[in-house]
Amino acid sequence: MKKCTFQRCLRAVDSMTSAQRHELKATIEHRDKKDLVAEVVSLVGTPTACPHCHNSEIRPWGHAAGLPRFRCRGCKRTFNALTNTPLSGLHHKDRWLFFLEKFSEGESVRKAAWRCGINTKAAFLWRHRFLALPACLKARKESGIVETDETWFLRSYKGQRGDLPRRARKRGGRAAKRGLSREQVPVLVVRDRSGATSDAILPKDNHREIKAVLEPLLARDAVLCSDGGGKGPIAVAAREIGVAHRAVNLNKGIRVLAGVYHIQSANAYHSRLKEWMRRFHGVATKYLDHYLGWRRMIEAFGEHLNSALWLTLSIGHHELQHE
Ligand SMILES: [Zn+2]
Repeated sequence: MKKCTFQRCLRAVDSMTSAQRHELKATIEHRDKKDLVAEVVSLVGTPTACPHCHNSEIRPWGHAAGLPRFRCRGCKRTFNALTNTPLSGLHHKDRWLFFLEKFSEGESVRKAAWRCGINTKAAFLWRHRFLALPACLKARKESGIVETDETWFLRSYKGQRGDLPRRARKRGGRAAKRGLSREQVPVLVVRDRSGATSDAILPKDNHREIKAVLEPLLARDAVLCSDGGGKGPIAVAAREIGVAHRAVNLNKGIRVLAGVYHIQSANAYHSRLKEWMRRFHGVATKYLDHYLGWRRMIEAFGEHLNSALWLTLSIGHHELQHE
């Protein structure tokens, strides 16, 4: 539109009746929503196979819920690009990108909900739907010098009513017992020098669980670095797997061995993770993996993590470069 025509339109607003202004507003909002949904549709892309039976013979089958629909020639069932993804059945597509944008900027779930005009309960659900797949994106293989270290998070039943195994603790409180206890959830962070990062919540803090995490992850020629000596669970796990292990001893001030073996990158990662987690004032243990994944996503993409990228990650259309 020409600038002068646009100026005329703007001036015309003054002479409109209240009902006309209302109609104009509704038209603009409708237009914006359509654009946002179209953007979501283009980001989720076109399915190449049936999500039910994986047959690739599919054909367009109209539209439903704002998305192009397809029908499988094999099983005859219909589907769209979001069928069988964590986002299937989630309403208000026109607000998804705005919601994710607010999150990428570090806004709280309550504030983001308010801005998007959805209720807080729905916003919590959205957050975890959008985090479900990113939480699974972690390094599958690590090689060279690989640093590993454990960190602990307070066990929390936040948001869960009833069936509490103990009295609820004030949020963000301290464990009664320090260090290893049932009130702490151990998390193993594994990071190689190329930055490939993986982490795992350990069901129990022992060498068996650590071995289960490390064995598929470590390349045969990896050299594992950790804190603590030959009898520690990480050392035992490394021996059983058959990879080389170098142990620093932070308590005794031995931080680096032979100039290269240390766990400074893993420790720095812990610090950033803990610092970032503080804003949530304690997270529910059942969602801890989602927060760990969120942090890995921030670490992997940095400033490039915008709403469009997050959306494609949350439907599984993107592979982390370290995979
Ligand atoms: Zn099918």
